[in-house]
Amino acid sequence: MQFADVIVDISAHALDRTFQYRVPEELEGSCDIGSVVNVPFGSRLVTGYIVGFSDQPRVKEDKIRPLQGSVAGATSEESRLTGLAVWIRDRYGCTFLQALHTVLPKKARMKVAQRKKVVLCVSEESAEHALSVMHVKKQAARERLLRELIAEKSLPWEVITQKLNVTGQTVKALEARGLVKIETEDAYRNPVLPEAYAHRSVTLNEEQSAIVSGICDRWNEEPAGRYLIRGITGSGKTEVYIELIAYAVSRGLQAIVLIPEIALTYQTLMRFYHRFGERVSVIHSRMSAGERSDQFERARRGAIDVMIGPRSALFTPFEHLGIIVIDEEHEESYRSGQAPKYHAREVAFRRGEMEGAKVVLGSATPSLEASYAAEKGIVKEFRLDHRAGKSALPYVGIIDLRREEGFGDRNMISRQLKAAMGETLQRKEQIMLFLNRRGYAGAVTCRSCGKVIRCPHCDVALTLHGKDRLVCHYCGYETRLTGKCPECGSPYLRTFRAGTEQVEKEVGQLFPGARVLRMDKDTTAGKDGQLNILSKFASREADILIGTQMIVKGHDFPDVTLVGILAADLSLNIPDFRAAERTFQLLTQAAGRAGRADKPGKVLIQTYQPDHYAVRCAMRQDYDSFYQKEMDLRLLSGYPPAGGLLQVHMACSDRDHLKIAADHLKALLDRILCQVRSAQVLGPTDDMVGRIADVYHMVIYLKCPGRKVLRVCKNRLERYIEANEGFRNVEITFDVD
Ligand code: ADP
Ligand code: ZN
Ligand code: ZN
Repeated sequence: MQFADVIVDISAHALDRTFQYRVPEELEGSCDIGSVVNVPFGSRLVTGYIVGFSDQPRVKEDKIRPLQGSVAGATSEESRLTGLAVWIRDRYGCTFLQALHTVLPKKARMKVAQRKKVVLCVSEESAEHALSVMHVKKQAARERLLRELIAEKSLPWEVITQKLNVTGQTVKALEARGLVKIETEDAYRNPVLPEAYAHRSVTLNEEQSAIVSGICDRWNEEPAGRYLIRGITGSGKTEVYIELIAYAVSRGLQAIVLIPEIALTYQTLMRFYHRFGERVSVIHSRMSAGERSDQFERARRGAIDVMIGPRSALFTPFEHLGIIVIDEEHEESYRSGQAPKYHAREVAFRRGEMEGAKVVLGSATPSLEASYAAEKGIVKEFRLDHRAGKSALPYVGIIDLRREEGFGDRNMISRQLKAAMGETLQRKEQIMLFLNRRGYAGAVTCRSCGKVIRCPHCDVALTLHGKDRLVCHYCGYETRLTGKCPECGSPYLRTFRAGTEQVEKEVGQLFPGARVLRMDKDTTAGKDGQLNILSKFASREADILIGTQMIVKGHDFPDVTLVGILAADLSLNIPDFRAAERTFQLLTQAAGRAGRADKPGKVLIQTYQPDHYAVRCAMRQDYDSFYQKEMDLRLLSGYPPAGGLLQVHMACSDRDHLKIAADHLKALLDRILCQVRSAQVLGPTDDMVGRIADVYHMVIYLKCPGRKVLRVCKNRLERYIEANEGFRNVEITFDVD
């Protein structure tokens, strides 16, 4: 007899364990790990997930109730993904349900969309004849449609009604004359536009070919091989990915390509579509859950070979996964912000190991983790040191803001940068101004009492928007700036408005004739806001693009010859051990935007800390020196990747209660670790932001060279928390690095 271990789909901490059920005979063949089943729970019938089987009952056998039926059988792929969820739970510390919902997103039960298309059903000759008749009768819309159909043979309904601007009535009129047929088919929506299916290919250069053969020639010898392609921006990494994927596909395997959301540009997608046509799909965060679920369904049915998307695309249920590519692997967005706080790189390695798939990481500025793994031989590193096209690397100069008088009060653009902008505009070339605002808000301070105007519910400064709107970016609280300090009533307020709006204004004053586009959270709110701005800039409808980190990634503008980085060091001051790494990456990536075609580019970095190694190394585009320096510091301080770090985040609306709970956890950790000399427990202290929407946040850090110790500690904490009533009102999440 067989028993199934089932996770019940009820979110309650006390239920975060498996329950045993008997598998009735009639279900024996159809149940598998990953199957979704109905189980009796108390007096109810609830949904559950099978995560394992056993032959031994864990309680008295007559107490074990039978499964009531299966909702959905699992493909072998779903079974494997369930296995991955179990690993995620153990690795990152979260509930079974959180892990399962991450890995197997709920299938949205949607009506299958109907795809309508219009097909030409007469010979070209008779169509041409009909065309000339329409022309004479001045039936412009009919003519337009027919002309297009002669070229394309068939067209999707949306293209006809939206792009050609032809009404349904017109189509019906042509149908009535027997010229066209309207066909419908069940369709899982394919987000790809049909015009992308024209084939295009490049011939790889020597460096690129060496990587492709380095991986493909040993395809069978290294089934779960791990590779890092370190290649400067524009060195042709994407072409290498495409070749590797084509090789996998030719062997009947499938591929997942992770791209940071922000770099998921039309241009990049097109290159994949050109190569793989209908067999590619994409998911992104602007899609509804149903649309995303459709794309997973297409993967499950074998309708596609390549899935492109951000972090969550990692869980695409491909049956024969051959390769996972993670582009810009250093990106922060690959770490999940909510439980389970997994990192896509680590989960990809795990999935690759489980399914015999290769993992290829690519970046111009690899994370310390990836390079350290390469140094240790866990990952095989390849290099692309030359730009693929004929363009040269840009000239990079540093502007020392400490020498710039009166800077920062009213203006953001130094004299040197202004001069360079003037020259660039004169040459009729384009400029990108990048404002590094990370860790910085457009705060308002009082010159009399020195206080910053803060959110009454959070420990953060309010941000000034427009003329007098003060907004809290953590809880959404909004108020008006009255012109007086709320603390002391003084009218002498000073605004640090180093926002993109302010830069836009300043540029307008300096260069009244220049056409300016601004890209930030406010201007890109709409569904295609970001795309619109970028395509306007690409088609030269503007001379200057101003933006935050959004403009740094992935976009290719051949006419941009000047990149100005306005406040390079703001991100150096964040209390985070990765602050220098992030700054180096941002600056290097931003610099890589200049001069991509045949025109030489120039990058000017404005900074108050021109001697900081992150700034200096970025200026020289010197990854190796940066890595050495930063890795030495990590080894010295025991931070990842030199050692493991466990963060225990605790949140509660009762401050005293939170403090007591935190002290208990700290005491437990001290007890567990009293024998482990190398471990270090820091805290509890207030979290980065100590209060959000009136909920208090604290954190304990545990540093230890051995990751096994961290896991033991995390598991002990989890059990302790579950067993003690006192933690019921405290939300606790783990961050395992
Ligand atoms: P990366 O992904 O490293 O930034 P890309 O793959 O986007 O680099 O390549 C940069 C540019 O060079 C693209 O326009 C691409 O089409 C072109 N390119 C890449 N490889 C080649 C090649 N072998 N021959 C010609 N052009 C290439
Ligand atoms: Zn004041
Ligand atoms: Zn707030």
